Amino acid sequence: MRVVIIGAGPAGLYVAYLLKRAFRWADVQVHERRARGTTFGFGIVFSDKALDFLVAEDSKTHALLAPELEQWSDLTIVHRGERVVIDGIGFSAIGRQMFLDLLEVRALDAGVEIHYDSEVDAAVASDRADLVVAADGVGSGLRQEHATAFGTSEEPLNNRFIWFGTSKPFDTLTQTFLQTRHGAFNAHHYRYQPHASTFIVETHVQTWRDAGLADLPIEASIRFCETVFAEALQGHRLVSNNSHWRQFPVVRNRTWSHGNIVLIGDALHTAHYSIGSGTRLALEDAIALAAAVKARPHDIGEALGRYQSERQPILQKLLGGADASAAWYESFEKHMQLAPYDFAMSYINRSGRVDQARLKAMSPGFVANYEANAA
Ligand SMILES: Cc1cc2nc3c(=O)[nH]c(=O)nc-3n(C[C@H](O)[C@H](O)[C@H](O)COP(=O)(O)OP(=O)(O)OC[C@H]3O[C@@H](n4cnc5c(N)ncnc54)[C@H](O)[C@@H]3O)c2cc1C
Repeated sequence: MRVVIIGAGPAGLYVAYLLKRAFRWADVQVHERRARGTTFGFGIVFSDKALDFLVAEDSKTHALLAPELEQWSDLTIVHRGERVVIDGIGFSAIGRQMFLDLLEVRALDAGVEIHYDSEVDAAVASDRADLVVAADGVGSGLRQEHATAFGTSEEPLNNRFIWFGTSKPFDTLTQTFLQTRHGAFNAHHYRYQPHASTFIVETHVQTWRDAGLADLPIEASIRFCETVFAEALQGHRLVSNNSHWRQFPVVRNRTWSHGNIVLIGDALHTAHYSIGSGTRLALEDAIALAAAVKARPHDIGEALGRYQSERQPILQKLLGGADASAAWYESFEKHMQLAPYDFAMSYINRSGRVDQARLKAMSPGFVANYEANAA
């Protein structure tokens, strides 16, 4: 079996490892257009205390990643200068490059060939391989080439966001909301290494325009965000990694494969970063795809149909939560009319997936403070 995987992000590296592990004799190649050791963004969070979902499938990869995770058990919302702590909402985080390096180790150990600085022609790859995995991310060229066959929809959200890093280590995942004379700004910030944090700034498109950010060079945007979030940053600078203002695209596909080409990870679907699940979903797609191919190795068409029919119902629930969370952020300035504890409650209920009894069990401190505040 010959498998060509386009993209060495989390989805591509992990499916390469799983397929090579399942089919020792197979030729599994990954082609990545970036240089080795480079990536976009800074750290990523996982919406659980640890990568527990990996334990059953792959305890060795879990054991490699677990010591590198920064973990905390509370989430902090800052609104009107008040810090509201929501206990029991565990997250863990890791640098994106570190995460990719560790997945690369697993793939290379299994015998996968990884080619960096390598962009392959999809048509040629499709002719020469039994299976082509489009793990080429949100702007997937393979998906765009066959957009009609995949039934692709791609809708940009209105808000503008920018992904920075900073040397300030934050105690917990923190959501800071601030009013300025131009309108409201939000920052998602969390530590992903002992002395490094992710800092994502988000705002409404009109606020972005009114603040002049649409026209300013990136250095001026950095200075602007440092000034707005001076209290959170406490003198630490924001760092760019090709950072630029973007709109988050909501990508969906009706049909997940076309001939021997199959979509996984962000090429298949995006999940708003506010739920910290895009990378996890990419890994779970990889697990589902590898399991389907393992079940039908001699009939790739059947395997790809099975991949979609088994994975889609599980995925839809999570993507529904991600879309609801994105919708909450699209109008976060309106929610900011609420007092801090009501605002925090609105935040925690934004995906519509937390029932009140479960919240009480999970976050007893927060619920007690919320009730005391309402009394
Ligand atoms: C601001 C922001 C914050 C985020 N934060 C989180 C978070 O905290 N937690 C989380 O779980 N997720 C987060 N995500 C989402 C996460 O980054 C993605 O879901 C995840 O990276 C998807 O993995 P992937 O492998 O599908 O795609 P990617 O990681 O995008 O990898 C795709 C790879 O394909 C390569 N490529 C593209 N085209 C070609 C080509 N033609 N030939 C060769 N190579 C090609 C690219 O260079 C890239 O390396 C965030 C996303 C954003 C935008």
